[in-house]
Amino acid sequence: MPHNPTAKSEALFAQAQHTIPGGVNSPVRAFRSVGGTPRFFAKAKGAYGWDADGNRYVDYICSWGPAIVGHAHPDVIAAVQQACTHGLSFGAPTAAEIEIAEWIREHLPSMEMMRLTSSGTEATMSAIRVARGYTGRSKIVKFEGCYHGHVDSLLVKAGSGLLTFGNPTSAGVPESFAAETIVLDYNDIDAVKRCFTEHGSQIAGVIVEPVAGNMNLVKPVKGFLEALRAQCDAHGAVLIFDEVMTGFRVGMQGVQGLSGVRPDMTTLGKVIGGGMPMGAFGGRQDIMQCVAPLGPVYQAGTLSGNPVAVAAGLATLKIISAPGFYDKLTAMTAQLMHDLQAIARECGEHNFCTDSVGGMFGIYFSPTPPVTFDDVHRSDRDKFNRFFHAMLDRGVYLAPSAFEAGFLSIQHDGEPIAHTLQAARESFQAIA
Ligand code: PMP
Repeated sequence: MPHNPTAKSEALFAQAQHTIPGGVNSPVRAFRSVGGTPRFFAKAKGAYGWDADGNRYVDYICSWGPAIVGHAHPDVIAAVQQACTHGLSFGAPTAAEIEIAEWIREHLPSMEMMRLTSSGTEATMSAIRVARGYTGRSKIVKFEGCYHGHVDSLLVKAGSGLLTFGNPTSAGVPESFAAETIVLDYNDIDAVKRCFTEHGSQIAGVIVEPVAGNMNLVKPVKGFLEALRAQCDAHGAVLIFDEVMTGFRVGMQGVQGLSGVRPDMTTLGKVIGGGMPMGAFGGRQDIMQCVAPLGPVYQAGTLSGNPVAVAAGLATLKIISAPGFYDKLTAMTAQLMHDLQAIARECGEHNFCTDSVGGMFGIYFSPTPPVTFDDVHRSDRDKFNRFFHAMLDRGVYLAPSAFEAGFLSIQHDGEPIAHTLQAARESFQAIA
């Protein structure tokens, strides 16, 4: 049984806990769900990351999505270095912000106007405010298992019974905020229709991960996104696609391009910042004209449109624009998923399946891919945790939770994937 040295990560984790809650700056990094010591990273290059003890991992987190061209891509690093020489932040507009906004609009035409933020959370929080300001209504519909950042009114789960208003999932979120949020089951078209029949005139907007990546990978069933579009149209509500994860990850036009369903507003993050802190929200011009200084909805940011982040984003977007980039990434990801499933079968593991969209994937210890959050809960999470650690011990870093999607970079081709498949064969045998 391989076992990597972890003394340095253990020491850092112990030290970190004195100054940082749980030792981490974002909870999932703490390995609470899978147990064990989180690996403190020292560097990453291409498809690989190295921890503080010098262990190398094939990285399937990719910074939770952004590292689509591989870590520390020379073109991105050069663009960042070049931008830094001109100053790190001005608090005044720059030409590069126009360039990235025009580039995004060219590929996501539903984003007629947009604003840059410093995180995905800021983007979704702002989009919700704009939807409320535009409609003059207060209720927001979200779906169980979708995550939209740590926005107060979205840290909410379904109350008991059908069509009830939500309950907070975090201390510190007042019940009165949660009461403005209606939580429905993902992929439940009937529930959406019932909800609009009952509350349509109060609903400002619907926010959805059009392919969910925060409850493992869950695809929309046929007609789900179309039903959201139809109900929002019928009742004058704003349809928000949260493409923070899927934007420039599933393909060049996001899920809106793949599905042909055009949202009123879109939120972005992750890939558009190329690994630097950046998000964006945008949509129909008449809606975005509500944003200050044009309109009455206030939204701002000291570091919004930061020149170094924009440079990293533009360099990344240039690389992914190369002809065939997504064809290759999609094919690589699908092949890896196919091979993992075949290896599982060969090793006698029949309660395992996989799925993917573009460069994001799901691996499930269940007989078929999940359709709802409940399905994800019913998967064998104990088996997942053992598989996670078996892979980690063999130098493959999967997301440390059965509720997260995984990500490939274009640089996973070749040796990294070959290493992964060998590690998977040994891991399935080890956990059998
Ligand atoms: N929306 C989605 C779909 C996300 O996956 C995330 C982050 N994982 C966010 C919003 C929040 O983005 P950030 O972590 O940059 O605030």
